[in-house]
Amino acid sequence: MKQVIFIGGGYGGINALHQLINQGIPDDVEITLIDRNPYHALKTEFYAIVAGTKADKEVRLDFPNHPKVSYLFGEIVEINTKNQQIRLRNTEENVDYDYLLVGLGCEDNYHGIPGAMEYTESVQTIAKSRQASIKVNNLPAYSQVSVIGAGLSGIEVASEIRESRPDLKIRLLDRGASVLSAFDDKIQKYVEDWFRNNHVDILHHSNVEAVDEGIFYNNGEGIESDVIIWTAGVRPNYLVRSLPFEKDRHEKIIVNEFHQVPSHPNVYIVGDCAASDYSPSAQLAGIQGEQIGTILSDILHDKQPRKPKDIKLKGQLGSLGKSDGFGNMYRQAVTGFLPRLAKSGVLWLNKRH
Ligand SMILES: Cc1cc2nc3c(=O)[nH]c(=O)nc-3n(C[C@H](O)[C@H](O)[C@H](O)COP(=O)(O)OP(=O)(O)OC[C@H]3O[C@@H](n4cnc5c(N)ncnc54)[C@H](O)[C@@H]3O)c2cc1C
Repeated sequence: MKQVIFIGGGYGGINALHQLINQGIPDDVEITLIDRNPYHALKTEFYAIVAGTKADKEVRLDFPNHPKVSYLFGEIVEINTKNQQIRLRNTEENVDYDYLLVGLGCEDNYHGIPGAMEYTESVQTIAKSRQASIKVNNLPAYSQVSVIGAGLSGIEVASEIRESRPDLKIRLLDRGASVLSAFDDKIQKYVEDWFRNNHVDILHHSNVEAVDEGIFYNNGEGIESDVIIWTAGVRPNYLVRSLPFEKDRHEKIIVNEFHQVPSHPNVYIVGDCAASDYSPSAQLAGIQGEQIGTILSDILHDKQPRKPKDIKLKGQLGSLGKSDGFGNMYRQAVTGFLPRLAKSGVLWLNKRH
């Protein structure tokens, strides 16, 4: 039996698995998906978990049932590419693989800032988002929340908390002259106006140097805050960073056109762990996952794999609470209710798929 092991059932992993199932799994193949969570977690919705505006169940999807697919739920602690084995915490036995798909996503990048890891809340896993939610939602009226980082996830977290807790004081720390540096001017202005109209303070040209309990130091000034949320950058999962493979300047693993590690073509890398010309996103991970599913299917059926098409992304959407949003759709900057509706539509389609 050939053992195909998927580590990580996020956007990349789940799309690869669906594709492989759709193409038919040969009799001599067994697939095992390993994840710490016994469900596929919709990471793009974690901002709503933090704000307490969505129930946990709404951001979880069941993994597919298939006689050739089994699941192992636990914390992966080692990927041994020499022995072709995966080790899980609290288990004696290793899991052997013939083919491996690595889709372990990313984690916070604290840029070596003292105290940032210890004293800030994170939105990078569902468990950490739940912890952040408890802290935010237990705050008494008039408390201060600070969101450090004004990229897509920071904007979504700050606006969602604003909408659900009008009593809180919220500030957003932005490293540059305008929020959302990856988006165009029209969107930046729209989002800045939204925050201004909704009484969120934006601190531009921020440079957080240290964090301690209930306080952070920005450009030399100590600023008190009841809850501090970190959305100031990500890097690939530590297990992926420690793999003995060539990486790009973002610490992501360099892959060939078949999403394989050139020196280990039985190892595939997807999503936030894989080097790409595009910024990391759920959309990118999903497309790469589908392509890997097709390639793996060809290989497992002893066929020459078809070369995948060039990836074309449809654009990115962001929310400002439940009825406002922004984004790039087919290279057009769009703001207001339409992109918010489109974002909900994408989520609905994802869940249905
Ligand atoms: C608040 C927020 C909003 C976002 N909004 C958008 C958006 O609107 N649009 C968009 O395209 N992207 C968005 N993103 C980015 C997007 O979520 C990621 O790019 C995407 O999830 C990457 O998919 P992936 O498959 O690489 O990893 P993930 O989806 O993160 O999956 C990784 C999987 O690996 C598992 N895992 C990790 N480590 C271990 C371990 N040690 N042991 C066992 N299992 C493990 C995790 O449980 C998880 O299931 C957002 C991100 C955040 C945080």
